[in-house]
Amino acid sequence: MTQDEKHIKRINKYLTSINVLYDDLVREIALLVVNLKVSEKLFRFKDYSRITKAVSEALITYNNGLLSKINIYTEYEWDFANQKVNDLLTDNLNGIKPKIPAAAYDSKMREISKQSQNKKALEAFQERKNGKFTVSERVWNITKQAKENLEFAIDDALKEGMSAQDLARKVKGNLNDPDKLFRRVRDKHGNLVLSKNAQAFHPGQGVYRSAHKNALRLASNEINMAYRSAEMERIRANSDVVGQKINLSPQHKVFDVCDELQGTYPKDFNWLLWHTSCKCFRTMILKSQSELITEINNGQNLSPEASKNYVGDVPQNFNKWVNDNREMIERRKSKPYFLEENKKFVK
Ligand SMILES: [Zn+2]
Repeated sequence: MTQDEKHIKRINKYLTSINVLYDDLVREIALLVVNLKVSEKLFRFKDYSRITKAVSEALITYNNGLLSKINIYTEYEWDFANQKVNDLLTDNLNGIKPKIPAAAYDSKMREISKQSQNKKALEAFQERKNGKFTVSERVWNITKQAKENLEFAIDDALKEGMSAQDLARKVKGNLNDPDKLFRRVRDKHGNLVLSKNAQAFHPGQGVYRSAHKNALRLASNEINMAYRSAEMERIRANSDVVGQKINLSPQHKVFDVCDELQGTYPKDFNWLLWHTSCKCFRTMILKSQSELITEINNGQNLSPEASKNYVGDVPQNFNKWVNDNREMIERRKSKPYFLEENKKFVK
């Protein structure tokens, strides 16, 4: 299994622990509401003052748990990406070791290790704004949506005399199918009542009605982007990297934008992914070994442009894609990330 395949596999493992966090929240809330005497009104936590504080605490636990897991896993994958680049550059250097002076070899090795000390860049990544919001703000929005999800699910599920386990199971079932749940609650209470409380069920474009689905997607994207950002940092820092190739993942089955955009790109093309949940991976294009040997033996430190492997421009298919999709791009409120980040390559 390649490093990149392991990376994708680890993301799926991390997500199971985010499932656990969510199950804990549902269980905790079920325990709190199961013995309430509820009215005919649409269920809202704030109408039951006895549990308000405990509900807020459960939500805050969920919120902080989600944020801290995202931070921990982005750090793990940041480190794994660093390790991947270390291995690649070290292997490359070891391949020419007999042909260069020992002192030059040592100094190159030290350089590689120094370039991996990039924790500051990780912190900047974790605190950055992606679009309008930071990760911490996005997590808070998910928590608010989870609260509304739960109110609807409880409204539909809670019956007198049921056990907390039954309630939790029913609530989870309801939340697995938020569209159906929304219709049922609307039929019970009417549209007017809902409109005040239905924000979570009318999220904007590209947002799920299920808070939990949004949590999984956010976490998975952040973790993947952390890995890709660390690679990007390393590519920038090392002048032996002269380009990059963006490849389709072996699991890629359906033809999409990833097929259209794959290819070799300049090293300063800022690539993290083509779209949400994109599993494409990157390989680095290095100076040839004979170039490196000559350069080191001449005591030089040549820029990437000097290499015959240097990639100076985006591939033709990238330009074609931008041209073919100009109208769609103009219409979209939030532009594709890879265009925003690479304005100088968009003609
Ligand atoms: Zn892709």
